[in-house]
Amino acid sequence: MILAAIAEYDTMGRDAFLDTYGYGPARGYFLVHEGRRYDSKAIVGVAHRGVTGRPLLPEEFSGGRDTVARRLIRLGFEVTAPGLALGEHTIENLLMKIDSLRTDRSKLTDQPRRHQPLTLLWALGRAAQGEPRLETWARTSAEISSLIDTFGHGDDRPNPEFPVLRLFHDGLWELDESDVPPASTSTAQRWMRDHAPMGGLRPWVHTIVTQHADVRAQIVLHLLEVYFQGVDHEALLTAVGLSSASDAEVPLNDGSPSPQRRQSTTMRVIRDSVLAQQIKDLHGHHCQICGVRLRLPDGSYAEGAHIRPVGQPHNGPDEPGNILCLCPNDHVLFDRGGLTLTDDLLIFDEVAGQVRGSLRLAPQHVINIAHVAYHREAARQVPGRA
Ligand SMILES: [Zn+2]
Repeated sequence: MILAAIAEYDTMGRDAFLDTYGYGPARGYFLVHEGRRYDSKAIVGVAHRGVTGRPLLPEEFSGGRDTVARRLIRLGFEVTAPGLALGEHTIENLLMKIDSLRTDRSKLTDQPRRHQPLTLLWALGRAAQGEPRLETWARTSAEISSLIDTFGHGDDRPNPEFPVLRLFHDGLWELDESDVPPASTSTAQRWMRDHAPMGGLRPWVHTIVTQHADVRAQIVLHLLEVYFQGVDHEALLTAVGLSSASDAEVPLNDGSPSPQRRQSTTMRVIRDSVLAQQIKDLHGHHCQICGVRLRLPDGSYAEGAHIRPVGQPHNGPDEPGNILCLCPNDHVLFDRGGLTLTDDLLIFDEVAGQVRGSLRLAPQHVINIAHVAYHREAARQVPGRA
């Protein structure tokens, strides 16, 4: 009965569903089903039609933890608590889903099968290239089949129906059809061919991976490390369109067009991004200089700043001791020599000529004083400054 109400909600859309049955939008508790959120009280009220022959009116029962939420949880549904209602669509949740892909193992290599990782890489490449989120099944299946053929295990059959269905039921993929069968059924493959649904990443997933190049890079690196040992990573990234996209974001210092150089740059950029992400996570995205944390609808924002710059002629290393978590303003001030650090990690305002406070530190993040000194000396050697 709950499932029937959910199906009706899906068909009508949220606004029409709530309007038709006289419910207001849920304030606290949402029912989560297959990665989508539903107003829990309205769903339970409408599902009641199966018991009494008519839907309950909102004033006939109370919503909330002790009634609606408890009842749904007892039925085996997932219910989000107030305040966590938006948490479902966060970067953390996306990374968790990527970490816990349910894949079979290749009988040939005893490694996890590559269908879902290849499907995700394909979609990430499209996102990086600014291609439309949704794609026809004809093109989707042709391109993913070809990737499985080229980069799969020897016994990975090029059947893109299964990874797409798995990702759909795990809440990462959207298909513009209802009554999508589980990937495990024997008719699943034929259903996909017969219905040929448009599909692609769910909107919230797509938003995160298009707006956060560092998160996208983190996912790519994770997939490469877990699923593609022994595979030519550069060739794979090039095949899914992730190679040139990363290069577009980070121009080479010398503008070298050599393909070999371009590809190794791609890998370095991806690894850097992951390291910077780890540092930012360590600090909870709080700026180490001013303490501010910028909050966005889909998470918080900070920047990873190298203390000794990585490019020529400074050649700073990619290591935690050379990276700070900064807000954009302080990142600019630090990079352009407006702020430096003393060997005691006090923040020195080079314009005012005075100490502004001390750098915020995290126990697991040890700053390398040699890089701090290098940065300070370099800042003071900028031509035109005494
Ligand atoms: Zn700051």
